[in-house]
Parts: sequence; C-alpha cells; structure tokens
Amino acid sequence: MTGAATTGAGRRTHADPLVRQVIGGEESEAAAGERFETVNPWTQAPAAEVVLSGEEDVARAVAAARAAFDEGPWPRLGFAARGRLLHALADAIDAHAEELAMADCIDVGKPITMLREFEVPRSAVNFRVFADHARLSTAEAFPNDLGLTVYTRYEPAGVVAAIVPWNVPLMMLSWKIAPALAWGNTVVVKPAEDSPASASLLARLASEVGIPPGVINVVHGFGPDSAGQFLTESPGIDRVTFTGETGTGRAIGRAAAGNLVPVSLELGGKSAHVVCGDVDLAAAAGLAARASFMNSGQICFAGNRILVEQGAYEEFLRRFAGAAEALRVGDPADPATEVGTLSSCKHFEKVSSYLDGDAFAGGRLVAGGPGDGWAVRPTIVADVPADSPLWREEIFGPVATVAPFESEVEAIAAANDSEYGLSALVSTDSNARASRLVAALDAGLVWVNTFPFRDPRAPYGGSGSSGVGREGGTFSRDFFTEPKQVVIQP
Ligand code: NDP
Repeated sequence: MTGAATTGAGRRTHADPLVRQVIGGEESEAAAGERFETVNPWTQAPAAEVVLSGEEDVARAVAAARAAFDEGPWPRLGFAARGRLLHALADAIDAHAEELAMADCIDVGKPITMLREFEVPRSAVNFRVFADHARLSTAEAFPNDLGLTVYTRYEPAGVVAAIVPWNVPLMMLSWKIAPALAWGNTVVVKPAEDSPASASLLARLASEVGIPPGVINVVHGFGPDSAGQFLTESPGIDRVTFTGETGTGRAIGRAAAGNLVPVSLELGGKSAHVVCGDVDLAAAAGLAARASFMNSGQICFAGNRILVEQGAYEEFLRRFAGAAEALRVGDPADPATEVGTLSSCKHFEKVSSYLDGDAFAGGRLVAGGPGDGWAVRPTIVADVPADSPLWREEIFGPVATVAPFESEVEAIAAANDSEYGLSALVSTDSNARASRLVAALDAGLVWVNTFPFRDPRAPYGGSGSSGVGREGGTFSRDFFTEPKQVVIQP
C-alpha cells in the first residue's frame, strides 16, 4: 500500500483514487457500476471516487459473511488461532499507520497528529485487547445440590452489521468489529459516506494477513434507501452495532426490531463538565479545552456544557479563552495543527447556524468564531441560558457553552437536565465532592480531572437519547455472542 498523493495546488487525494467495496475477499465495483465522490474538507477538492453499493451488492456481502460463518474456518478456528490473526492485523495497522492516518485526515479533515499519535495506534490496540480478552475470558459455573455440572458457553452470534459515523472512522470501526471478530463472528461494515477509505484499507490488510475471505466485508453508500438501510433491514444479519446520530439510531432500532435482531446503539451526547471552585483553574481550563475542542468538537462525548462554580466563573472564563485561542487551527495534514476543519460543507453549515446572532439567545461570545474555509475556531459562549438550543442540542462542533452555578445541588440538577446521558466530567481537588458528583451524574462514563482515556475492558455507552446498551470488555462479549446454559448429568 502507498501513501497519499498530492495533485494540482497541494490538493491531497487518496493514492488510490477509487475506493472499492470488499465482498468475500474481493475488491469490486458495484453491480450497477455506480459511484459517488468524496471531498477533502480542507482543500474542498474531490478526494476519491467511491463504489456505491446497491441492494444486490449488500445482499452479496451479507451472503458472503453468512457463508464464512456457516461454512468457513473463522468461527471454528479457536480463540488462540483467531487471536494470532487479529494480532497480525494489529501489526499490519501499525505497519501501514501513515496510509490509514492520511485516509481519515483527507476524508474528514482531522489533524494528522491526532491520527498518528492516538487514533491509529488505538485501532491496533483494540484488535489486540479484544483478541486477548476473548482468549482469556472465563465462563461461569453454577454449583448446585443436584450434582449437575452447569456452566455457560458463549457462542458467536453470526453475521454482524457494523454501521459507523465519520468522526473517528478507523478507530470506531475497530472498536466495533474487533470484539465481534474475536468472538468468532463475521461482519459487514458500512462506513459513513464521508469517510469510506480507511475501512476498505483495513479489509485489504485483513486479507493480506490471512483473515479468511468473507470474514470482513465492506459496502459503501448512504443511509436511507441506500447501503445503510439495505444492510440494517437484511434478514441475513444477527446483530446490528451502530454509532451515529440519535435520529438515525431510532430508524436502525426500528429496522432491527422488524427482524428481531439485537441492536447496540451508541448515539449522541451533550456532556456536562462541572468545574468546582476548589480546583486549579489553569488545569481545569486546559481540560475543558481538550474536552470541548478535540477533533473540532466532533466527538460524541465532548464535554462542552460547562458549569462553573460562581466564585471561579470569570477567572475560569479568562483562562479557558486563553487555552482556546492558543490552539492552532489549520491544515489538518500539518503536524502542528491541533484543530482541523469540520468534516463537510453540510456539517460546517449546521455548526455555523449555531453561531449567528439569534442562536446566542443572550449568550456572550468569549472566544472564537468562523475560521478559514469549513473550519470554525474554538468558540466559547458564556452565560448561556439553560433553555437555549446552544445549551441543549448536540452541535458536534468546536463550540463550548458555559454557565455559572451556586451550589452542588444546583450543578447536579443542571448537569442532569439533558435528554442525553453519555458522559460527564468533573474538575475538583476534593475527593469527597468527586465521589458525590460521580454518583449523582446521569452518565455512562464520568471523568474526574482527566479526559479522554477510556479503558476498552470497561463498559461504554449511554442512557436516554445517548443510546441503548454498553460495549467494551464482557459487555461486548455479551452482545456479540449467544450465551448458552449447559446442564450435564456427570
Ligand atoms: P449518522 O447517524 O448520520 O450516520 C452514521 C452512519 O449511519 C453512517 O454510516 C450513515 O451513512 C448511516 N446511516 C444514516 N442513516 C441510516 C439509515 N436510515 N439506515 C442505516 N444507516 C444509516 O451520524 P454521523 O455520521 O453524522 O455521525 C455523527 C453522530 O455520531 C453524532 O450524533 C455523534 O454524537 C454520534 N457519535 C456517537 C458516538 C458514541 O459513541 N455514542 C461516537 C461518535 C459519534 P451516511 O454517512 O451515508 O449518512
């Protein structure tokens, strides 16, 4: 595999200008021969042509995954042999890190340094962790008075449909398919239309390291009336794992219910960050900048609904504005860039709509505003009323909203006053306050004085409009398997 190409006036495109679907180990064109185009959001020039998988292609991909599951070696290999292949895939990710990083950088405008230092290495880690987790996992035995041997077996569920968003393309994909594969399932992946390249590259690497044909299939296209919907409505799948917007999650949940297929939904968020007055405000402001502006705020668990104890409010704002303004916004392929562009013109327009005068609804602009092209500078709006869309809705851009609180009770009520329940942050130097807040906050994940480390063995997911179910560690095992009770009269 080779790296990215530069054409014309520095217009970065993929080295391979055609992104193909991968079915049964073959990279191919769509049956109908249709294609669509991706755009590099920084240069705003075309990045690649992508095969548009139609209904027939999706059916073929599901059939290939079915055949690989029913008749192929993968589910029968055993944990050690499967684990060796998944470790080999992880090694291949490391060996091809630059090409994978550049694919996501070009497709969605995310900073190359973040891809090189965090997302691509973490993708490899996900394959290693879940391979080992499955191999080392134990199963329950149930002692009883009847002299029977009773225990649990975890059988692979079958064919998994994995539908992923554009904000962390490769890493999200690895998070979903690594446990599915480690437990012996086969997968059909539908990446987001804006970020298709890294998924096809990953499938190619899987084939190169010897993962059998049909174990990882990739179809490309759009959501409704396209590859996404065809896949989620397919009667041939046994699990749907989806990450994306809450509205899409509802549609996918309905489709899965039609086939009585278990579904795992990781959806949107609007996470609160409670900053207590006892904390080092420089550290809290730095944490708030990371939690609000990493990946241009295009992170479901971004902590951008910030509640600050009244006495510390103005000083926090001053320091937070300083931290935001110090972030370097620019060309995502420049290693010095800390905040890239938004992922597409459509998404830029959505985020910008929150920054026109009316949307502020009494808020005070403390830092930021529009940047070059489809970039938005790290933006801070203070004194945001609790009923404003700016405070309540997932903007999914580099826009942090801040408001003061008087008491811990008030902070908890304000933090929990949201349809979302994905994550929350707490900045405090008091262990007692941290314990109280951790217990009281309605969120699937709470960080105290840190962000954004997540342990892949621990539960991840949210409540309310943030999703259904948890993934990670044994939670992934439980979702991607059919647990079986075994009762033996010795
Ligand atoms: P979308 O929901 O628009 O899309 C996600 C994926 O679903 C894409 O591949 C999309 O295809 C596909 N899709 C869209 N409609 C359908 C449908 N009817 N049937 C089947 N598939 C469909 O989300 P975005 O890509 O815009 O991602 C941003 C969202 O993801 C944010 O809301 C964010 O909060 C959430 N997210 C949640 C995370 C979590 O862990 N909770 C983590 C990361 C992001 P296409 O690209 O063609 O539209």
